[in-house]
Parts: sequence; structure tokens; C-alpha cells
Amino acid sequence: MVLSKCGEEFELYAAKIAGKWKGRIFIFGAGIRGKELYRELSAYPAQIEMKFIDNDAGKIGTVYEDAEIISLAEYLQLNEADRGIIVIAIAQADAVAAVEEQLANCGLQHREYYFTDTEFQNEVFPIISLYCYDKSYVSLAQISLTERCTLKCKKCAHACYAVDIASDDMPLEEAYRSVDCFFSKVDFIGEFVLIGGEPLLYKELSKVITYIGDKYRKQIGLFTITTNGTIIPSEEVIRACSKANVMFRISNYSKAIPRLKISLDRLTAYLSKYGILYVLGKPDGEWKDYGFEYVNRKASSGELITVFDQCKTPCREMRGNRFYFCVMARTVSDNLRYHVGEDDYLDFDKLNGTEYKKELLKFNLGYSEKGYLDMCNFCHGAESINYPIPVAEQLI
Ligand code: SF4
Ligand code: SF4
Repeated sequence: MVLSKCGEEFELYAAKIAGKWKGRIFIFGAGIRGKELYRELSAYPAQIEMKFIDNDAGKIGTVYEDAEIISLAEYLQLNEADRGIIVIAIAQADAVAAVEEQLANCGLQHREYYFTDTEFQNEVFPIISLYCYDKSYVSLAQISLTERCTLKCKKCAHACYAVDIASDDMPLEEAYRSVDCFFSKVDFIGEFVLIGGEPLLYKELSKVITYIGDKYRKQIGLFTITTNGTIIPSEEVIRACSKANVMFRISNYSKAIPRLKISLDRLTAYLSKYGILYVLGKPDGEWKDYGFEYVNRKASSGELITVFDQCKTPCREMRGNRFYFCVMARTVSDNLRYHVGEDDYLDFDKLNGTEYKKELLKFNLGYSEKGYLDMCNFCHGAESINYPIPVAEQLI
């Protein structure tokens, strides 16, 4: 979106969202995703009242941590004043569609009464956080400590297949500087991700985890590491993870690479032994091809604004003083040496005015002077769902 269009219209939208806020949400779905959202927002520095709605009769009437689980019928019996935004937090797209139909049948309209968790975290709560609590909020951001990897996926969305296993990682001081810059402007982040490449290849990983945990853990909902499951972390890393309450998100590529089954079993057993939380991905499914290696839209700036606006990627990245809207755009451009969009970032060092939180909010919602990233010219963007590809197919 183009920044110049972001005036009165944005203020009206923000005022409408903030005006709806009653300090309370109803998370539809008391499963893995709903509970993650609950844990994220429980850590937020202002109290948010949360309840779950679920269709499972076995869950209704029970509690998760401090949150009651009620039925939709019970929600509908509440007075308007006792209701709140419903957030659908369910992973499977068909189950989300079924809940949307259920809500529509009860007269609850999308974006009036309910949002999906992606919409809530990326579009709605950043506004609520600033306008109702004066806190800058980012739903998810990553720091790529290394772009080396133990696998060579043909369609790695960060093009890590092009990175030599002997190449240099981010220096430790740069990792510290990146998180310091980020947290100097961001009051709270829903999920802070250590990523790669394969982040467990990073030699100073325990130091980075300890640094972030000691200085910034209170500003983080979920602190996670995304790993491909090929490496067993050292005891030092495990101790740091345990102290900083780090959760592992383990990709499951065992269908494409059967030998990984043994590593995944070993890793999950090891994490369980030390009481480290993890989520193991499902072996099925498919990836979508962004087409960075062959797409060249040769599009006008107007067309690229549309591509960018339809994409809405939630994957921000911090790197030194630079805050990138799209981690894929930055990594692919660097790793394939495209040198495209090298200025497409927000400079934390220049966010100094009294309105810096609003500037950050607008960037995070996708507003910029240009209205798109140069790499959008080389990407299928939202159309990538029409280009399904096998998961983790290897180059060698
Ligand atoms: S495991 Fe992940 S980071 Fe490594 S090459 Fe595959 S997709 Fe890329
Ligand atoms: S369309 Fe642009 S913002 Fe979206 S994934 Fe592609 S490069 Fe990133």
C-alpha cells in the first residue's frame, strides 16, 4: 500500500477497530493453534481477558489455564457488553471455513464480529496495541543467524541451497545489535523466531538465546527456533532454551527424506527428556512455489502494488538496523545475488520522531512510499497457491 493513501482513511479504520475493543477476545478453537495464541497474549504487558469457544462437547465446560471453554450457543447468550472479538484459531483451512459458515448462520459477520487469527495478529491487534495501550506490537519476526543448512531443498523459500556450507554466519555482535535495534522500537512481539538456514548450525546459538532471554523475554510471547530436525542441540543450547522458555518448531520432511524419521524421533525424545516444548510438523502436505528463480513480471509499479497488497506475508525479518517486510525477498535476493530491493527496509535508526510507533505500525501493515518491494516483480506472491510443489525435494 502506498503511504500517501494512508491518511484519513487509515485513521478512520484504526478508530473503528480501537472503538470495538473491550479488552477481551474469544478464541474459537481450543486446539494447538488456539492455545498458542492464548500463551502469546497472556504474556502481553496489559491484561487481555480470554475465553475459548469450541464445538467439542468434551472440551466445553472445562478450562485451559485460566480460560473457560464455552460453546457458541453460550457466547450468543451473552449481552453485547460481555462479548468481544472472536478470533478463529484453527490450522486446517476446511475447518476454518466450516466455523465461518457456522458464525455467518448466527448472524456474526466477518470483520465485524470475527477475524481469523492471521488477520487478528497481523492487522487488528497491532492497531489495538498502539491505539488502546500505546505499545508497538509485531506479530512475528525472525532473525536469520545463518543461511547455511544441512539440507538442500530445491525450492527453499530462502534460497539457502545456494549458500556454501563453509560460508560465514551472522557475527555474534551483529546478532546482538539486531535484537537491540528491534526491541528499542518494538514493545512486544507475538512470536520471535530464530531461523536459518538451519539455526542449530550457528556456533554461538546458546549465547544468542541467553542474551535475548535475559534482556527481552518479557517482550516476547512465544520464543521459538525453527529447525529441520537434522541436528541434536548441545546441552549448552538446551540449558539456554530451558531458561528462556524456548519452543522448537520442527519441520517434518520425513516423507521426502525417509532417513529423517530417525533424527526426528531422536530429537523429539531428547527435547521431551529435558522438558523443552516442541511442535512437530505433519509429514504430509505441499509447499507453494514463489517462483523466485524464474518469474519476471516486468510489471508496472501499479501492478506491483496490487501484487504486494494481495500477498500480505506475515514474515518480517530484523538484520542490524534494518527491518524487512518480507524475509523471503531479502534472503533470496542476497543468496542468489540478485541485488534487487536492497533499500526495501525500514531503518530502525531513523525511527526517532515522537510518532515513531505509528510509523512502525504503518510499515508493519504494509504501507510504504513505493507501495511494494522490488522483489515482488520476481515472485508469484498470493498466486503461489496455484503452484503447489512437493515438500523438501532435494537437489542432491
Ligand atoms: S531445510 Fe529449510 S532452510 Fe534448509 S534448505 Fe530446506 S527449506 Fe531451506
Ligand atoms: S509478493 Fe513480495 S512481499 Fe509477497 S512474498 Fe513475494 S516478494 Fe515477498
